Formats: sequence, structure tokens, C-alpha cells
Amino acid sequence: MSQKDWLEKDYYAVLGLKKDATDDQIKKAFRKLARQYHPDQNKDPQAERRFKEVTEANDVLSDPKKRAEYDQARSLFGSGFRFPGGGGGGGRGPSMSFEDIFSGGGGGASGLGDLFGGLFGGGAQQRGPRRGGDVETEVTIGFRDAAHGAQISVRLSSDTACESCRGTGAKAGTSPKACPTCQGSGMTARQSGGFAVSEPCSSCHGRGLTIDDPCPTCAGTGQGRSNRTIQVRIPAGVVDNQRIRIKGKGTPGASGGPAGDLYVVVHVTADALFTRQGDHLAITVPVTYVEAALGAEIGVPTLDGGQVRLKIPAGTKSGRTFRAKGKGIELKSGRTDLLVTVQVQVPEHLSPEAQDALRAYEALAGEGNPRANLRNGA
Ligand SMILES: [Zn+2]
Ligand SMILES: [Zn+2]
Repeated sequence: MSQKDWLEKDYYAVLGLKKDATDDQIKKAFRKLARQYHPDQNKDPQAERRFKEVTEANDVLSDPKKRAEYDQARSLFGSGFRFPGGGGGGGRGPSMSFEDIFSGGGGGASGLGDLFGGLFGGGAQQRGPRRGGDVETEVTIGFRDAAHGAQISVRLSSDTACESCRGTGAKAGTSPKACPTCQGSGMTARQSGGFAVSEPCSSCHGRGLTIDDPCPTCAGTGQGRSNRTIQVRIPAGVVDNQRIRIKGKGTPGASGGPAGDLYVVVHVTADALFTRQGDHLAITVPVTYVEAALGAEIGVPTLDGGQVRLKIPAGTKSGRTFRAKGKGIELKSGRTDLLVTVQVQVPEHLSPEAQDALRAYEALAGEGNPRANLRNGA
């Protein structure tokens, strides 16, 4: 049985029932007719065909979910509704493939949601498998997580069909009707200067449908939001504002098409000690004037909480950068470097004794005037 049969077949009539038949009535009617037309019992050549029809009708009507979808499809398309722009032939129903409409496969409801979403958005339905859309989201992670890589949860919110009305926009239990102004075509003709001009129907804004009783959940728009949370692996070494592509985690495809991709824009918070210079890690460390002048071996913190010893040669200028090889970030390609920039500290408060000592030092060092070679405008 294919779902496109739904619009052509009246399963209630097949079982000799009214549309409001109870589950019990459906069960009884099916048993009676199945016995009557069973090929083992009935040698009439038409019996086998009737038996198949009865079984098919029962398959749909005895399953509450399928029955609800069938009822909804029938009430929509049975009312003479035609697709906007489509050349559907009156009461015969629309001319497009119904596989497209029920593209949600087993889901059913999502297929209807796609249909109405497409119609209400004015977009044309495409045939065949369709790739799902790409989705972009943003996350903020800590500096160290960015350096080491991290597994994070990403909450994705996306447009979907309203759950209450399954995207129809009509209150539960009711259905959109073909627009009486345009008979469901979505277009009306107007005379203008001797020409007939076709324009979108003003009553239904080109939808071809009117809703008497709007769904209270979505206020008749048919649109809802769905939330899902997925786990995303942020690779080690990611930098601020980097865009990571996660294949197949975007919007699911339709009609067997592949899912779209998820793009995660990663914002990285600053660290109190470290910054990044490309793939390398960077840190600025204070040294005293004496350490810079005489040389020293200093301890520099590393990202993993340890320390690396760094030799500062005598006469090191403030702002000079040293490279501690392999003490940076652990990437797939190996561990990067730690770039250590020294900054000579100048004491703000000195005791009178220390001031005297500095003046004595200056006299001894005989450095002279360090600005002697600066000439203005030379
Ligand atoms: Zn709704
Ligand atoms: Zn209309």
C-alpha cells in the first residue's frame, strides 16, 4: 500500500462505515468483510480484490496514528484544494506526486509539516531526495578547553511544524479549507486595460487555504520550534571565532536526502596568563632590572600547570621574546611552542637606602645619557 492511495480511496466506504466510526466498529466491520471475501471462502473472481481493499482499509483505520493522518489528508485534499500555481484538475485533486507530501516516511506528521511549511512560505516543493539545510550556532568555551579540545553540548533550536496542529495552522480537530475566493488556487484574475491579470488572492494571500479556527499554539502560522541537544567535539587548538563544520548534524534531509551540516562558531574566553599566537601559546612574564641586566634562570608556568625553566641572558632588553620549544599546545601534529616575552619591572616605591644605592650604582655604571643620540627633526 502506498500513501498516495489515501486521497483516492475512501477506506470508510470500503468498510461500510461512517467517518466517525469507533475503533470497535472498525474492528467488527473488518472481521465480517474479511471473512466474507477471504479467497479461501469465496470463489467469486472479484473477492480477492475486495479482500485486499478491506485489509488495506483496516491497516490504516485500525492504527490511530495512520488514521489521524489519513483523515487529515482527506479533509484537506478532498475539499477541492489545489496547489497554488499547480494545474490540478478540480475535484480530481492535485497533480503533484504524493510521495513528496508524505516525505517524512514513517513519521508522516513531519511530511505534512514540510508540505505546509513549504506552501506557507511560498516555496515550491521539489521532487526527489533533498539535502537538509545547514545550521549555524555559536558556543563560548574557556581558553584551556579551546587549547586542549573539549566535548561540549550544543542546544539547537530550529523551525519545525507546530506540534499542536501538525503545521496546518488550524485548531486541533479542524482543517484549513480551500479559500472560497480563489477556489484554492491562490490566484485571482483581474481585468486591467483589456488584459486579464493574474495576481495572488487577497483573501488568502496566495495560500489557497483559509483557516476558520486558528491553532492557539502557533496563532495559525503552523510554525513551531524544536530543540535538540547534540554533543560536539571541539578539536584542540581552536582559536577565537573559528568556525567548525560538523558533517551531517544540520537539518535532517527529506525523502532520503542527506542531512545538512552544522557549523559551530567558537568564541574563546581570555585566560589570565596565556594568549595565542597562531598555534603557539604565549605568555608575558615580569623580570626585575637586576635579572635582565645580570641574567637569570626563571620559572615560567605552562598550560598543564607545570613550569618550564628559562635562561635569561645578561643584558636582556624588555620586550624580548624567548621560545620554549614543545611547551605550547598539544595538537595532532605535535606540541607547539611557548613564546615567553619578558617585561622588565620598574619599582614604584623605593626606600631612601635603595634610592641611595641606585644613585651610587648609576655613578659606577657610567652609562651616561641614554638619549644622547636622539636628535629632533634630523
Ligand atoms: Zn499550530
Ligand atoms: Zn484565496
